[in-house]
Amino acid sequence: MAADSTFKLTYATMHNPPEELHTNFESALAKIRANLGKEHGMIIDGKEVFTAEKYEDRNPANFDEVLAVFQKGTPKEAALAVEAAKRAFPKWRKTPWQERIKLIRKAADIMSERIFEMGVAMALEVGKNRTEALGDVAETADLMRYACDRMEASNGFYAEMGTDPLMGFNSTNVSVLKPYGVWVVISPFNFPGALTGGPTGEALVTGNTVIMKPATDTTWTARLIAECLRDAGVPDGVFNFISGPGSSIGQAVLDNPDVAGLTFTGSFDVGMKIFRDWGSRNYVRPTILELGGKNPAVVSRNANLEDAAVGIMRSAFGLQGQKCSACSRVFVEQPLYAQLVDRLAELTNKINIGDPTQRENWMGPVINKGSYRDYQQFSEDLSQHGTIVTGGKVLTNDAYAHGYFCSPTIVTDLPESHGLWKQEMFVPIVTIAPVPSLEDGMRRANDVSYGLTAGFYGSQDEAEWFFDNIEAGVTYANRPQGATTGAWPGFQPFGGWKGSGSSGKNAGGFYYLQLYMHEQINNRVIRG
Ligand code: NDP
Repeated sequence: MAADSTFKLTYATMHNPPEELHTNFESALAKIRANLGKEHGMIIDGKEVFTAEKYEDRNPANFDEVLAVFQKGTPKEAALAVEAAKRAFPKWRKTPWQERIKLIRKAADIMSERIFEMGVAMALEVGKNRTEALGDVAETADLMRYACDRMEASNGFYAEMGTDPLMGFNSTNVSVLKPYGVWVVISPFNFPGALTGGPTGEALVTGNTVIMKPATDTTWTARLIAECLRDAGVPDGVFNFISGPGSSIGQAVLDNPDVAGLTFTGSFDVGMKIFRDWGSRNYVRPTILELGGKNPAVVSRNANLEDAAVGIMRSAFGLQGQKCSACSRVFVEQPLYAQLVDRLAELTNKINIGDPTQRENWMGPVINKGSYRDYQQFSEDLSQHGTIVTGGKVLTNDAYAHGYFCSPTIVTDLPESHGLWKQEMFVPIVTIAPVPSLEDGMRRANDVSYGLTAGFYGSQDEAEWFFDNIEAGVTYANRPQGATTGAWPGFQPFGGWKGSGSSGKNAGGFYYLQLYMHEQINNRVIRG
């Protein structure tokens, strides 16, 4: 963006960005498209590391297009990365926090300068539309800045406590939060910016050294984040970027006894496996798990129909239903039910689907063949047990033949006992049911093991009742920008309850940075 622009891109403002955002994105797209297919190393101890086996990062909108080539890391590189991070820790932890935040702020500024290049890479590898991709890069930089701001506002988490009332002694107490050591960041495919760069920034600012292991499908964005850290001058070994399958190199990193802490963002099943594995180690390490969701919207008979329909459509189908915060269940009070289903279907049928780097397309492809098949299987199951109001089919004509495109799908008449009311699908499918009362909507909304986000449409009083009773970490009322989606550091910190998250604290909020440090009390006694 031009330096004098007052526009700030966030998930709330992305729906009507200024023209300059489009022209900048298009010129970055042309530049990057002319130079695709480059091979990238891992970055371990500041060095580019290459392995015998490689893998291709392909465009899910056109799987014939190889975007970049990455190293298929093995347990050997996992061990090298842990050694490098361990070696770098003593010096980094002693680096004054003021110096650390200077470096991380510089990395965030470099990221902001590269926002269009990084946004294009992300749009291509994830299949995100341009504003979603740029929003993710902007959020990454802001998460890093917010971590710096909290460190500063908290005086580096150094606090003088009470002086002991001891006759003949001066006995003072200080509380100080200190880093743990080598911190691993494992991130999912859907927000490869914010969910790799955010925890990395938080761990670095607090004095830990980091190993970043992104999802195989979206390694490119993480590599570009690592380059921002490198170019900002973050010392060798303080951050390390590795690539390769989670089940081999990821698992090997986590099995290494020198790893002190972890931020894992991804599916419930993988997160719980890691949690159980770590439970059998010699002592408990901090394990921040940010897991899946099954996010409900509850709609009262008093709701503004248009706001509800627009908000649900955006949250159910934005990023093809592959946001952890995607709206996947809707409970509507009976009097508004038929109208809401009709209006939602009308809006859904107007969605432009196609290459997400093109301005006119709002929905792109799902991430890979596995998700494409999941969508087909869920659609088949739902067509047998419920009614498909719209969608239910993959898109196969010429424009879509080389990508994983699925039509946005609305399902009604699904029995309450059907398993897909409770299972995260992570594809563009929303199920919707009438409820006799708001209490019944609330009962069903809470009747899952997840508790990430939730949305409500209705009167102000009803919204307060909703906030009071809903079991979720991020909640929204009467929001046409998205029924269940939206997060921003310092505005809407993001995290889940129940099976959606382990810490009970939200990233980008007041209480999150402390999770990356343990407390030490220093009691100093002087006689006299
Ligand atoms: P996965 O759980 O499949 O993968 C997440 C990461 O874990 C990837 O980097 C993966 O690597 C890695 N991994 C897989 N197995 C292991 C292992 N044994 N040891 C170490 N690492 C491993 O999730 P997805 O990438 O499919 O992401 C979607 C999921 O993430 C959804 O459930 C979504 O709800 C959740 N999510 C939660 C968020 C939150 O804030 N609560 C935010 C965003 C997403 P590889 O790719 O190589 O397999």
